[in-house]
Amino acid sequence: MNKLGVHAFVWEKGWSHDECARAIARTAETGFDLIEVSALEPKTIDVAFTRQQLERSGLGATYSLGLDAASDISADDRDKEKRGEAKLRDAIAMARDIGATHICGILYSAFGKYAVPPTAEGIKRSVEVIQRVAETAASSGIVIGLEVVNRYETNILNTASQGVEMCRRVAAPNVKVHLDVYHMNIEESDIGAAIIETGDLLGYFHTGDSHRGYMGSGSIDLAGVFRALVKANYAGPITFESFSSRVVGQPLEGILGIWRNLWEDSADLASHALMYTKAQLKAAREAQKQAERSRLP
Ligand code: MN
Repeated sequence: MNKLGVHAFVWEKGWSHDECARAIARTAETGFDLIEVSALEPKTIDVAFTRQQLERSGLGATYSLGLDAASDISADDRDKEKRGEAKLRDAIAMARDIGATHICGILYSAFGKYAVPPTAEGIKRSVEVIQRVAETAASSGIVIGLEVVNRYETNILNTASQGVEMCRRVAAPNVKVHLDVYHMNIEESDIGAAIIETGDLLGYFHTGDSHRGYMGSGSIDLAGVFRALVKANYAGPITFESFSSRVVGQPLEGILGIWRNLWEDSADLASHALMYTKAQLKAAREAQKQAERSRLP
């Protein structure tokens, strides 16, 4: 069964002790299995405190981040590559120490709009760094999810098939494709087909909707998305990601263009997302049984 989670930014934009304790307690109270902790500002994370709060609430965790221009492992710049590798290693160590099972996001390039296309050499550098850090992650039982995002947030992985190709080049059993329905809605020809074709390489999934607000209140065919996840036998985490100017601050609001206030009440948004996800998964699983329930006598 899929573990269901929520991104920390649904609750809080920072990770002070108070913010961490509140986000974890509210995630657990709502009934999620895990919280996705944002590692964009790793210095603000008190690892021991976070682990203690997670244990107290009986909650699981995953860890997400994006590299920046100064730590871009795909750049033709040895210093950036070194900084990027160090950043990934630090993030893996922190993920291990808070007890996270997955580390995901834009781990293969900078998180932001590029002005030029990727190069074969840049992708090769990125693959080699990921291969090295994947071994470290594997020794702590951590899965790495390479998030496929839209063209304004990276120039390397914009479609699921590119994610599959990158994972095949890395060729490490704990490196998987991380798909996000918001980005897929921008870039894929057929979201359901892309999920099914990713198949066993799918290792992490972000739900949401076309405007990143309430699930089901946008224009994405979410029923089709969940049917595809069930058809692909996807058993990994499904995490709800939503951003509103109500919570998100800089630098994320600037990178993602979060200008609108899409919700006021984090608890209402999160409990709706959990209900909606459970209902969609149940409906998709029942739809799968149609053939066996329709046998002629
Ligand atoms: Mn995402």
